[in-house]
Amino acid sequence: MSNYHIKNLEEYFQVYRKSVRDPENFWEEIAEENFLWRHRWNKVLEYDLAKPEVSWYKGAKLNITENCIDRHIYTRGDKTAIIFEPNNPAEEAQNITYKDLHERVCRFSNVLLEQGIKKGDRVCIYLPMIPELAISLLACARIGAIHSVVFAGFSSTALSTRINDSECKMVITSDGSYRGNKTIDLKGIVDEALESCPSIKTVLVAKRTHTEITMKKNRDKWLQPLLDEAYHDCVPEIMDAEDPLFILYTSGSTGSPKGMVHTTAGYMVYTAYTFKNVFQYREDDVYWCTADIGWITGHSYIVYGPLANGATTLMFEGVPSYPDFGRFWQVVEKHKVSQFYTAPTAIRALAKERLDFSENYDLSSLKILGSVGEPINEEAWHWYDENIGKRKCPIVDTWWQTETGGIMISPIPYSTPTIPTYATLPLPGIQPALMDENGDELKGNLVSGRLCIKYPWPGMARTIWGNHERYHETYFSTFKNKYFTGDGALRDSTGYYRITGRVDDVIIVSGHNLGTAPIEDAVNEHPAVAESAIVGFPHDVKGNALYGFVILKEIGESRLHENLRKEINQIITEHIGPIAKLDKIQFTTGLPKTRSGKIMRRILRKIAEKDTSNLDDISTLLNPEVVQEVMDGAV
Ligand code: ATP
Ligand code: MG
Repeated sequence: MSNYHIKNLEEYFQVYRKSVRDPENFWEEIAEENFLWRHRWNKVLEYDLAKPEVSWYKGAKLNITENCIDRHIYTRGDKTAIIFEPNNPAEEAQNITYKDLHERVCRFSNVLLEQGIKKGDRVCIYLPMIPELAISLLACARIGAIHSVVFAGFSSTALSTRINDSECKMVITSDGSYRGNKTIDLKGIVDEALESCPSIKTVLVAKRTHTEITMKKNRDKWLQPLLDEAYHDCVPEIMDAEDPLFILYTSGSTGSPKGMVHTTAGYMVYTAYTFKNVFQYREDDVYWCTADIGWITGHSYIVYGPLANGATTLMFEGVPSYPDFGRFWQVVEKHKVSQFYTAPTAIRALAKERLDFSENYDLSSLKILGSVGEPINEEAWHWYDENIGKRKCPIVDTWWQTETGGIMISPIPYSTPTIPTYATLPLPGIQPALMDENGDELKGNLVSGRLCIKYPWPGMARTIWGNHERYHETYFSTFKNKYFTGDGALRDSTGYYRITGRVDDVIIVSGHNLGTAPIEDAVNEHPAVAESAIVGFPHDVKGNALYGFVILKEIGESRLHENLRKEINQIITEHIGPIAKLDKIQFTTGLPKTRSGKIMRRILRKIAEKDTSNLDDISTLLNPEVVQEVMDGAV
């Protein structure tokens, strides 16, 4: 039995027990057997969660790109590392082999060095999903620079805030980007942002859309000519285990974004291990995660986790709706994708469309489906299972966060029996705890509370950039010596976990704690409902009452809204109980979402509370225009 690759449920339980009994020994064996180290560690784990201070593999020396690239050249040099599928299906896809990747990363690393970037410098990457994006992350890692990727859909204000927070020296961007049938003037956004970013000395510009742009003298440089001249090999910087690898800002669903800092060795071990097991990756598989590399999902499960396993990972530049709603499935057929990992928001959007968009393609290469980002509701789960997986692909509902670095609670496909809406069991090394309001741990099964993790794991973020106090305050002060996730969860009679939503969203109605996710799940069961979001608002008698925002599948749904309201509450009564019935139901055509596609409940809460004077910054939303519609339609 290998600890590294779990193949059945019995092995999972054995490995899990071992990982809890002796975590250091468990993570030591995995690190020893599966990675390339320049120097061995002195101590596997040192920690003090009160401060908090955590270090994994202290004393070890390594470079993560040697693990993700160099070592594969000897065994699978001609294997495709990255498949690039462009926005426009008529443009040819690119296959970048491990050998090619090595050369391209080395050239890029040399360009960074020539431009004065040194170990420890911060480099902001603001690029669309083109190969240069993955390559620039790896080039930074190769020379020890700390990358800070900002999703290329963010506004100039969001970009400059993030650049200034971590005082980046350089921005890597492109002239423009393609998104469906739109061309976006990326460089223009950068220029605007940089008006207030004194730390930036250099801007490297990749050519993608051939858009006309202005190049600022002594600051802006075209990337390609520099790459062409750079030497094709680059000796990697040897890093300490705990040297920062990158900074990544959280989505900002619940407040101002936090610059999470991830370090080198622990992050590498954890993302590689979880990738291997959660996706059961085999040598000839083609793996595709549809996230943008601007999010943690892309960092861990498009770039580092897959490449550390020598996998073939697909990068998709486009959107699910272009040229039509069959695009995902066309790409699956074209590249014979084996593992497909996406977000509930995409599944719900596709489930609204006609079935022939998926039926027209051969999806028989698929073996495993994944979901991440939000609770996946039962109806979306079944749609995914039936129409995409054809009931033969296990669905891994993976719960984790930017802060956790990698997947924490998830089924192991073909081993853990799945149940819709359940993230099921903790991965080896992860020790969850459910806490009550008084700070006591809820032991046993059939309990629900605040989800904490009570023992360190290698992938955890070490701090918030420049603000350790906020890190302590946000994650380690609510419950003593535990990492508090901010999410609520329940543990069922078999020990399975179900995430019930964010703790901030738990609403106390007549003294009952109600999580929003299970209620939304019930509402979405109604055949006319496409998507819903539930928030609380103050109520004289109940303390709080529930307010539902509902998107219907057919905008002009002919039935009377009053009847629909009754039916929706009927379903809630059946699934959860009359206590969870909605006092108010507003039908709307859209819901405010973050750029990563999550419903922004804090805005909905203000609308339900009729307190819209201070909605914070809505410009960073994916769809700021819907806010007005939702406000106007408030009931
Ligand atoms: P911020 O922390 O800035 O408010 P965010 O929490 O949305 O933003 P992420 O780290 O991208 O930023 O998202 C993590 C959160 O997403 C989790 O805490 C959880 O609420 C939700 N989530 C992720 N995966 C799942 C899942 N499989 N099931 C339920 N919820 C999930
Ligand atoms: Mg969060």
